[in-house]
Amino acid sequence: MVDLKTLQPVRGTRDIIGEDSRRHFHVIGMARDIAARYGCTEWVTPIFEDTSVFARTLGETSDVVTKEMYSFTDRGGESITLRPENTAGICRALVSNGLTQSLPQKVFYAGPMFRYERPQKGRYRQFHQIGMEIIGSAEPLADAEAIDCGWQILRALGISQHVTLKLNTLGDTASRDAYRAALVAYFSRFEADLSADSQMRLVKNPLRILDSKDENDRRLVAGAPTIFDYLTPDAARFFDGVQNALTIFGVPFIRDPQIVRGLDYYSHTAFEFTTDALGAQGTVLGGGRYDGLLEQMGGPAMPAIGWAAGIERLAMLIAEPPAIENAIAIIPVNDVMQNHALQILADLRASGMHAEISYRGNMKRRMERANRIQAAFAVIVGDAEFERGVVQVKNLRDGQQIEQPIAGLADYFR
Ligand code: ATP
Ligand code: MG
Repeated sequence: MVDLKTLQPVRGTRDIIGEDSRRHFHVIGMARDIAARYGCTEWVTPIFEDTSVFARTLGETSDVVTKEMYSFTDRGGESITLRPENTAGICRALVSNGLTQSLPQKVFYAGPMFRYERPQKGRYRQFHQIGMEIIGSAEPLADAEAIDCGWQILRALGISQHVTLKLNTLGDTASRDAYRAALVAYFSRFEADLSADSQMRLVKNPLRILDSKDENDRRLVAGAPTIFDYLTPDAARFFDGVQNALTIFGVPFIRDPQIVRGLDYYSHTAFEFTTDALGAQGTVLGGGRYDGLLEQMGGPAMPAIGWAAGIERLAMLIAEPPAIENAIAIIPVNDVMQNHALQILADLRASGMHAEISYRGNMKRRMERANRIQAAFAVIVGDAEFERGVVQVKNLRDGQQIEQPIAGLADYFR
C-alpha cells in the first residue's frame, strides 16, 4: 500500500498553499488588472500541444528544445509536449481561430509551464508565468508599450526598485547576418576554449553563445563585438523609436548588448528585467520581438512582441500580501439560535461580505475558531437580543462590543 506520509510532490514541483498561494494570486491579479489597461484580453491555451508547435519555433539550439522539454508519445501515437512557454501556443491559437485578419491582438495569459531543469531556488520543473503579447504590430511603439506594461506591473507589485531593465536590439535580418559573421570570426579564434554547447552554437547559432551561462564562455563573451556596430540604418531607427517612447513613458533602462534571450526566434528588441535579490536566478521578466515566429510555424508573416515573467520569482520579491481583511464570524449562543445565525450568515454573504460560521461547538470553541481564521468581527446571536431584532457585534481587534440592529448589519460592516 502507498504510505501517504512519505508521498512528496514530484521533484521540481511544489504545492502553492497558504502564504505562497496569497503571493501567487496577488501577482496574477495585479498583472491581470494592469494588462487590461493596455487593452489586453486574457487567453487560456492548452498546457500541452503537438511537439512540433515548440520544436519548430523555439529553435533547435535553444536550451529548452535541446534539454528541457517534457515530451511523450500519447496512446494514439502522437508526440505531445507539455508547454515550456506560452508564446508558441498563443500564436498557434491565433491561427487556429482565424484571427490573423483581426489585428493587432493584445493578449495576456497566466498559467503553468514545464521544463526539465535542475531544480533550485527560483527554478522548478513546473513553474508559472504571466505574460503578454502584442501580435500584428511592426511599430516600435508596440515594443515600448509591451515593456512599459511589464514595468508598470513590477511597480504595482512594489518591486521596481529591485529590478533593472536591460534593453538590447538584435536588429533586422541584414544587421544580424553581418553581426553573426563578426561573432563567428571572433569566437572561432577561441573555439577550443568554448564549452561544448557553445562549440555547437558556433556552427548553428553563434548569437546564442552570448546567452551562455558557462563561466569561461562568459569571459570570452565580454570581449566579443557588439551588435550596436552592425545595425543597418533601419534597425538603428527602430531601436531609437523604442528608446524614445520608453523615455516618454518614464521607463528607466540601460542598454546591454549581451541580452539575446534564451529562445532563437527574436529580432529587433530583446530585453530583461533582472534583480540581484534572487542569487543566480536573476531574470524576473524577459521578452522581445519575434517577427519570424508565425511564419516559421507555417502561418502568415506576422510581426509580434511579447514577454513572460516567472510568477515564483516575482512572488518571492513582493511584500507579504495581507490576509483576508474584515472576515466576520457568526456565533450563535446555542442550538436554538443556529437557524437565525444561518439566515444572518446568508444575508451578509449576499451583500458581498466574507462571513463564516463554525459547523459545531459551544460558544468558546466557536470564538477560538473565529480567532484562527483571523476574523475582524464576531456577530453573537443571542436569544434575548434576537427577540429585540439586534445582535452583539464584537470587534476582535480591540475587544469592544456593541449592539446592532440585524436589519442594518450589512450597511454597518460596509
Ligand atoms: P533562465 O535564464 O533563468 O533559465 P529563461 O531565459 O529560460 O530564464 P524565459 O524562457 O525567458 O526564461 O522565461 C521567462 C521567465 O520565466 C524567466 O525570466 C523566469 O522568471 C521564469 N522561468 C523560466 N524558467 C523557469 C523555471 N524553471 N522555474 C521558475 N521560473 C522560470
Ligand atoms: Mg532557462
